Amino acid sequence: MLSWQRAHGRHALPWSGSRDPYRIWLSEVMLQQTQVATVKAYYARFLERFASVQDLAAAPLDEVLALWAGLGYYSRARNLHACAQAVAALGGFPRRAAELEQLPGIGRSTARAIAAFCFDERLSILDGNVKRVLARLLAFEQDLARAPAQRELWALADALVPAQASDMPAYTQGLMDLGATLCTPRQPRCGECPVQALCQAQAQGRQAELPLKSRRLVRGRRENWWLMLQREHDGAVWLQQRPDTGVWAGLWSLPLFESEAELLSQFPPQALEPLPRIDHALTHFDWVLHPRRLLWAAAPSPLPEGRWVAPDEWAAFGMPAPLKKML
Ligand code: SF4
Repeated sequence: MLSWQRAHGRHALPWSGSRDPYRIWLSEVMLQQTQVATVKAYYARFLERFASVQDLAAAPLDEVLALWAGLGYYSRARNLHACAQAVAALGGFPRRAAELEQLPGIGRSTARAIAAFCFDERLSILDGNVKRVLARLLAFEQDLARAPAQRELWALADALVPAQASDMPAYTQGLMDLGATLCTPRQPRCGECPVQALCQAQAQGRQAELPLKSRRLVRGRRENWWLMLQREHDGAVWLQQRPDTGVWAGLWSLPLFESEAELLSQFPPQALEPLPRIDHALTHFDWVLHPRRLLWAAAPSPLPEGRWVAPDEWAAFGMPAPLKKML
């Protein structure tokens, strides 16, 4: 595994080989629910703007959210900021996974990744890719949607780490690389795999059925009407800040209506200009948004909550990706 990683692992990733906990942490948080190709550009922009965890801690939350827009799961950005402030107050990142795990937004696997990459701690990571690799390698047949099964797999994963602490970075990266490049969800390339001789799933021809996961996510569908109130003389739009929890937490967005009837009960139908419908896919549901534009010439505060945001201010406001695109 170690020699395979050194020869064939992904060494070109911007964070590969780093021992800097700030860089590892930033990449891990960004990669939690986002593809590598997307993360690369955001990672570079964040480092350019915030060279250190202290710089990130000192920045206003709105600036962090604005830079994060498009990566999704905005609670990650809020936690990122809160965590940076906690780390700055501590004077630096803790070195042990157990302490790292106490920080905002750092889960068990992320804590272990930082501890292994930066401080050689001998504990295994277990993210989605690694669960798949190990479930196949060990022909682990329990349902990973259940907590006891997860605990058991963690224990098995910890029993596999190398004896030499200094091998932890290459081993951890190797597990990640194997899951990302060879042991993929569909059609794993077992012929090139460094652990194929040990792999139970390969021996039994059961790669396709492992890992087992019985509780599949049921996707829902939601439909809303979105009001783009735009001031006639300068193009400013009326934005409201989303609640701290839920979809687009903390971002600035357009007023949302549950139904067309609700929107029409407050604004004159003939003045509402329909804009192209937006289909936005989130993890748990598909969201259909019907934007309606209303040019506003009159009073300064047309709705109880929110504020006018002029075009030259848009970049500084954290907004959901579909709104940014529409504007
Ligand atoms: S042999 Fe195939 S199934 Fe087993 S770990 Fe390697 S790539 Fe995955």
